[in-house]
Amino acid sequence: MELENVYWRIWSAIPSREKKKIKLGAFLAGGLFLGISKTPLRKSLAVLAPNTLFLIDTFCPQINLFAKSFWRGRSQRSLALSFDDGPDPFITPHLVELLERYQARATFFQLVEQARRYPQILKLIKASGHEIGLHGLNHRKVHLMGQRQFRKNIEKGRKQLEDLLGERVLWYRPPHGFLRFDQYLILKKLGLKVAGWTIGVWDTDENVTAKEIFERLRRSVRPGDIVLLHDSVAERHRPQTAMLKALDVFLASLSTQGIKAVTISDLWEETKSGQKIQ
Ligand SMILES: [Zn+2]
Repeated sequence: MELENVYWRIWSAIPSREKKKIKLGAFLAGGLFLGISKTPLRKSLAVLAPNTLFLIDTFCPQINLFAKSFWRGRSQRSLALSFDDGPDPFITPHLVELLERYQARATFFQLVEQARRYPQILKLIKASGHEIGLHGLNHRKVHLMGQRQFRKNIEKGRKQLEDLLGERVLWYRPPHGFLRFDQYLILKKLGLKVAGWTIGVWDTDENVTAKEIFERLRRSVRPGDIVLLHDSVAERHRPQTAMLKALDVFLASLSTQGIKAVTISDLWEETKSGQKIQ
């Protein structure tokens, strides 16, 4: 069963075009590192190294060096589905219907400006038994914000979302998963838990097909994972129809394997009551 190393599975879900870019980046960074280490500039490595750790921590939700996120659970029989960037007036109602057909539950990370535009869809998601999390007021990258602006963005977004829902929001997922350590500390103070993800399948790519999305899901996802999908694409108006088609096939395959799709809170509870997470 081991394509089980999680980082290997994450790698296997990345489209080959992106893999090429990552390999080239690593090659250049390695070259730079070796180049500097042989020159008087080598002292700068002492400064660069810790900063590199903070950078990796900011940009990789699957690496919990300083800012801790729940990015992977432990379970033999369930996995968490999550949908970002909605609600979407065309896709989300179909998605809710599809999930209902397979008795699947999920966590929806909402853009609040979007949720205010479509409050009836937000209510439909909640009424169907799914969980609502905060993805931000809008899709601006928060790691570029100062602390005060970030706090304001979170407090305002959370309040507006809770007013629409009539209940507390417990989970936050930053756009793109980018979060600085100091921002993580602010979230902790506000009582928000940070949700990462185990496997993303690049379902918002421009010309991605349903077959490609399904193949990445089939190859990479295992019980205990948090799966990242999108019912909307922030800042673009492209319907996520390929994702919907792929999800239909994926949910059918989960149900034949006896694997349940649950919310992030459910996976969190199951993980907490079981072994320690990695
Ligand atoms: Zn997003």
